[in-house]
Amino acid sequence: MLHDLTPAPLTLDKASNHGTVAERVTTLNARYRHHAATAVLEHALRDVALGRVALVSSFGAESVVLLHLVSVIAPETPVLFVDTRMLFTETLDYQRELAEKLHLCDVRTIRASQPRVAFEDPDGTLHQFNTDACCGVRKVEPLERALAGFDGWITGRKRFQASTRQSVEFFEAEGETRIKVNPLAHWGREDLEDYIVNNRLPRHPLVAKGYPSIGCAPCTSPVKEGEDPRAGRWRGSQKVECGIHFIDGKAVRVPNTEQKDTAA
Ligand code: SF4
Repeated sequence: MLHDLTPAPLTLDKASNHGTVAERVTTLNARYRHHAATAVLEHALRDVALGRVALVSSFGAESVVLLHLVSVIAPETPVLFVDTRMLFTETLDYQRELAEKLHLCDVRTIRASQPRVAFEDPDGTLHQFNTDACCGVRKVEPLERALAGFDGWITGRKRFQASTRQSVEFFEAEGETRIKVNPLAHWGREDLEDYIVNNRLPRHPLVAKGYPSIGCAPCTSPVKEGEDPRAGRWRGSQKVECGIHFIDGKAVRVPNTEQKDTAA
């Protein structure tokens, strides 16, 4: 796995002869097929033709890798952090620590409005009987609103993480509105580990306590040795991701067995 910071030479002009978002994505994936994550990220962050681009981060177990890469290339990049008000205290502390250490200048904490939460989840127990609805109110809707001002977003999704992610590409179309960029799509667990060690990056404190994947406190449990790293997410249910999936700028729900795009 290459970790070079070679600038990407491509400059696309989306307004002229590069067609639809889907066509541009096809072109980008062909062009960057053999490039490193950093080249893909540099393109996303520096090419004005891609428009306004934000990084969406959960500040979870592996998030520090992409946050660090972004901080090296363009620390002024808007970073959207969805605070569901159900996160671990450790995650909130880690978010502040990383933002300061990496000199990220524009971290934006995104939350559902209090009236909306009060209406849908007045006693904070929605996650106990309808996790899709809870994720919808607390994660998907706020992120959809936050992304409305952007032409693209960067996620930390990787192929190795789940069977539902095995076909993740560097660039993906979200209808005719946005391009989703997944610079780490081809990274494996060892690549992440090497990067964290080599750059002496701080880890989420819950990783050492058996949490290789970290979401909201009520829906995340420790993982035993030999278990899938995401086994602790919504343990005991069919749900495997929060269902953040946008088509034509609108968040849509897709069946648990088919979905699942998330920034987490
Ligand atoms: S992960 Fe759990 S608590 Fe968090 S928004 Fe989804 S259902 Fe609610």
